[in-house]
Amino acid sequence: MIKTIVIGAGVMGASVAYRLAQAGAEVTVLEATRVGGGTSGISFAWTNAHNKPPKPYHDLNVAGMKAHAALADEFGATPWWHGGGSLEWEAEPDRAAQAANLEQLRSWGYAAEWVTLRQVEELEPDIDPATIGDAPVAFFADEGWLDPVVYAHAMLSAARRRHGAKVVCGARVVDLIMAGDRVTGVRLADGTQYEADTVVNCAGRWTNEATHEAGLHLPLAPTVGFLVFTPPVAASLGRVVRTTVVHARPDGAGRLLLHWNPTDATMSFDTKLSPSMPEARDLVRRARQLLPSIGEVEPEAVRIAIRPIPGDHFSAIGPMPRTSGYYLAVTHSGVTMSPFLGAAVADEIVRGRQRAELADFRPARFFN
Ligand SMILES: Cc1cc2nc3c(=O)[nH]c(=O)nc-3n(C[C@H](O)[C@H](O)[C@H](O)COP(=O)(O)OP(=O)(O)OC[C@H]3O[C@@H](n4cnc5c(N)ncnc54)[C@H](O)[C@@H]3O)c2cc1C
Repeated sequence: MIKTIVIGAGVMGASVAYRLAQAGAEVTVLEATRVGGGTSGISFAWTNAHNKPPKPYHDLNVAGMKAHAALADEFGATPWWHGGGSLEWEAEPDRAAQAANLEQLRSWGYAAEWVTLRQVEELEPDIDPATIGDAPVAFFADEGWLDPVVYAHAMLSAARRRHGAKVVCGARVVDLIMAGDRVTGVRLADGTQYEADTVVNCAGRWTNEATHEAGLHLPLAPTVGFLVFTPPVAASLGRVVRTTVVHARPDGAGRLLLHWNPTDATMSFDTKLSPSMPEARDLVRRARQLLPSIGEVEPEAVRIAIRPIPGDHFSAIGPMPRTSGYYLAVTHSGVTMSPFLGAAVADEIVRGRQRAELADFRPARFFN
């Protein structure tokens, strides 16, 4: 039985661990803090392949969406995933690009259509049509969003209960143990060592902190994301909406999760966070423009996270070159892609099957 270590218990580590264990590997997950305590717990978590050219990268995202849907057969119910599609409208300068994207998506067989104001009203009766004005509205029926921590917990519970995987929280990996060019295990901050035939690094934006060996560092191009949560509000928003005033989705029990790209650009990871900060109030004010029935509500929480983006913005999935026994699984849009990537990684590591879908996304491209 192949012995594996998975570093990190976000959506990627949890997906990889579940599929490795299911495929027959012995799996130990080593997580520095808690399940979902990294970027996965602070994500807009929209499952989509919406604007992700070129085609092989779009396809990886579509495969992730399909894999999320397929989990319903495997688990009976997937309370962590929410469908309903997404709605989108753009300001005038961006409408030509929106139309071009919609046409490209349709030509690739993706569910993408224009809808009328009446259809929008049926889907989202609390949206103020004045915020739409004369903007064309697009609907993407197969998109949705995830509760990433609930998902990661479900995958790890299944890995443990069904397939005997071990999950250790509070286990910070500080270095790889090497025998020549071969990785044979990991060392934790407290000195504990774990042996493995293969170590899979799913530490997201902390990927390079798990090894001192500079030659094993993946170039990253991280960006900061800022999210605002409202208290439960009187609006029946049922899906992801990406509008000219704010991006929003439900976040359980009547809460809304809000995001606005231009605000991200004003933030750094050191920004002092408070629900009363002007940027948070501005996002809620924007949400009130979209959904007037929420009333004079204050932000309930704000969170900031760093996106784990490999240097050229595409996924880095595969063996680390010039070494053996060490595999990386690091990507942006990990919420969307992780259920597919977990299965593909297990195929490669346990069954020795090279997955053609990953050919363009090998870490080796950074080390030539
Ligand atoms: C604001 C924002 C919005 C986003 N929106 C979307 C979206 O709409 N759709 C989408 O698909 N994606 C989105 N993403 C990206 C997505 O959230 C990430 O790609 C995904 O969560 C990455 O998951 P991960 O498991 O790789 O990383 P993480 O969730 O960060 O997991 C890594 C884990 O490794 C642990 N760890 C770190 N160092 C060590 C160590 N040395 N030893 C042991 N454990 C360690 C951490 O504690 C953490 O739990 C968004 C991200 C942000 C920040």
